[in-house]
Amino acid sequence: MPFQFQGTGMEVQLFMDIKVEEIYLQRAMDLHKNTPAVDAHLDLAGEVLLRHQAGEKEVVRNHYFPNFQKAGIRLVASSIFVETGNLDRGWENALEQIAALRKDIEGLEEASIVESGRDIEKAFEEGKIGILLYMEGLDCIGGDIDRLNTLHGQGVRGAALTWSRPNALANGCCKASEHKRVYGGLSGAGKEAVKRLEELSMFVDVSHLNDEGFEDLCKIAERPFIATHSNSRKVFDSFRNMTDEQMRRLAAQGGIMGVNGCRCIAGSLGGNHLEMLCRHIEYEVEIMGAEHVGYGFDLCDSYDEARAALRGEKCERNGDCLLNHGQVPLVTAALLQRGMDEESLKKIIGGNFLGYFKEMI
Ligand SMILES: [Zn+2]
Repeated sequence: MPFQFQGTGMEVQLFMDIKVEEIYLQRAMDLHKNTPAVDAHLDLAGEVLLRHQAGEKEVVRNHYFPNFQKAGIRLVASSIFVETGNLDRGWENALEQIAALRKDIEGLEEASIVESGRDIEKAFEEGKIGILLYMEGLDCIGGDIDRLNTLHGQGVRGAALTWSRPNALANGCCKASEHKRVYGGLSGAGKEAVKRLEELSMFVDVSHLNDEGFEDLCKIAERPFIATHSNSRKVFDSFRNMTDEQMRRLAAQGGIMGVNGCRCIAGSLGGNHLEMLCRHIEYEVEIMGAEHVGYGFDLCDSYDEARAALRGEKCERNGDCLLNHGQVPLVTAALLQRGMDEESLKKIIGGNFLGYFKEMI
């Protein structure tokens, strides 16, 4: 079925802390209709595996397509994230996630895995949503750099060296809730991994990396790296977020920063979710320019719900700033209402990440 943009479906506006006027919503919907939107970070592969383990099928189609279509989301970077409890069989778990996602969308007309710039163009021509695979942390390769070639062979096209924990390559920044700095930069194997990633035309993601690791990466990176899902540390003080100086350096080497929609990283625990997302984006534009800002919402409630269900537990669904991807145009509308121009928003909605991914993979 060709891609079709669907109606506004903004029935959940009451949930929001900013009253967005209809005129801005309509303008935002028009923008999302005419500009391919990108979400640069979603733990999709892991959720699909969890839901398959619970007996579900066609997870992406049932849980995600309707909202992607509402928001005009045409490209999604699906992370492959190995939970700490699975690290003892991390490599197997990572491969299982990739296999599960491939199986889930196999034969569907709505989506395909994209492994090159040409693949992205082809998916768009066919009206499909492109799904791009990348690693959120490389714990699962240990120090075995050749495994990056295996991952590349599996269609993986990017990697963050770390999640918020140490591994053989680098140190994570610490968990967002724990304001305790973690020290130590890239190891020898970590530097080798960056070199190999670049040789394989895989992008590097600095979200979750600690400050010293960021410094080391700046010294050795030869291709532009990005932060798929990080916010401003000035706007909300968390080690998961980036300093002004880091943001300037990210931008100077051609990087893009995806705004993170997790409440604990946006700093919206008081309920001011939309307000905080806008403040992060506006500040990032002020520091880096609109060419270096994007969406990387990191919506986790659905994943958490899948994991809880598998364990027979209840899930509150209270970690994300947005209820689902169908609400993404609300962020765009709020930014318009607060005075951001449409040309900047086209870049932020998807133009920046789309250009980057097409060129880098
Ligand atoms: Zn993350």
